[in-house]
Amino acid sequence: MDNQTIGLNHIAIAVTDMDAALVFYRDVLGLHLDRIEEVEAEKSKVAFLPLGNSEIELVQPTANDTGVAKWLTKHGPGMHHIAIQVPDIVAVMARLKSHEVELINFEPRQKTDGTLYAFIHPRSAFGVLIELYQKAE
Ligand code: ZN
Repeated sequence: MDNQTIGLNHIAIAVTDMDAALVFYRDVLGLHLDRIEEVEAEKSKVAFLPLGNSEIELVQPTANDTGVAKWLTKHGPGMHHIAIQVPDIVAVMARLKSHEVELINFEPRQKTDGTLYAFIHPRSAFGVLIELYQKAE
């Protein structure tokens, strides 16, 4: 999927036990495990399982004070968010703001690889936490 295409970048599933989650998603369901990364900035361990043009991310917090950790305490393991790739995150966010959509991040945040992202509150998205995602050029 090129940078100009709108599409599903990933689905994030919050887990408390990565090994147990991999037994299901990799070994039983049969998905391919591409890699596992420690994401220091988000205090989490993430397993990437490609799925067509997108991927499933299994996210296990490595600290108790993260958003995902708190969400897990409240909800238990489950689908945490979907990430929609857009070609121009700034333009999309401006449109959302003009429609008074509730954003969690008012400005895009940047990953170390240059990817820009921002979250839309589930209250504005019919119960789904949506991550907007713009890949680096
Ligand atoms: Zn995500």
